[in-house]
Amino acid sequence: MNHKTHCRNAQAGIMNKTTKILLPWMLSSIVTLGMASTVQADDVDDKTCPPEAYAMALRYQQQSAEIEALQRQSYALATAKLQQKIAANPDVDDLAIMTDLDETVIDNSALLVRDMQACHDFTGWDTWKVWEREGHPRLIPGARAFLNYADANGVTIFYVSDRYQENKASTLDTLAALRLPQVDETHVRLLGPSKGERRAAIERDYDLILQLGDSLADFSSDFHHADLKDQHRRVAEDSAHFGEDWIMFPNASYGSWSDADLEAWAAPLKTQ
Ligand SMILES: [Mg+2]
Repeated sequence: MNHKTHCRNAQAGIMNKTTKILLPWMLSSIVTLGMASTVQADDVDDKTCPPEAYAMALRYQQQSAEIEALQRQSYALATAKLQQKIAANPDVDDLAIMTDLDETVIDNSALLVRDMQACHDFTGWDTWKVWEREGHPRLIPGARAFLNYADANGVTIFYVSDRYQENKASTLDTLAALRLPQVDETHVRLLGPSKGERRAAIERDYDLILQLGDSLADFSSDFHHADLKDQHRRVAEDSAHFGEDWIMFPNASYGSWSDADLEAWAAPLKTQ
């Protein structure tokens, strides 16, 4: 007799002996059990948490050594290219680089993970302003060494980010606490004018030799409102920029691709 059969037979024996005595209690118990299962079902519904769909991407972005390797690889490439460009341009006072902040120089994954664990969809970005004011982002590995290299060689750095202008004092404090060079009112340029306008303003005064970002729109306004198909076309067209004067950083946690349809193998699922 296996365990399940034994339990069923034992229950049947109790029913025969005690049905009359326990009938009222049993009926009320059935009603109670019915209610309990309804409550339990509601609980399950309440516990569905769509933001948990972000967990795999956030785990990769925050915890994988592969992301750290990619970030270090991007900064190694940026350093090599900067070295070349400095060697080719003796008048270093004219040279500038422009870098994005979020997920390029600083890592905001702790906010995204906190929101996900609270079942709050961070892509609504309604917790972002508080993070700008009170959060403590980490440095992306390799960022400080690269930026110090640019600074030590007399290259002007512009931190161009779509962080909020109203929180600029907090962002300056955050960057200063991370001991990044050239962090001041002039060299940190936040949202107000579009990124394209801010880039054009830098190009009026400097030879912009290198751009760093985790989003294609960090490099060119052409990507700003482009749909995904158009973005792919432009990436192919602009391929000579990547690894040359545009240095791309990996960000699996958010982006203009996040609602894209996936493509699946049409074959029916079979195992073994
Ligand atoms: Mg960014």
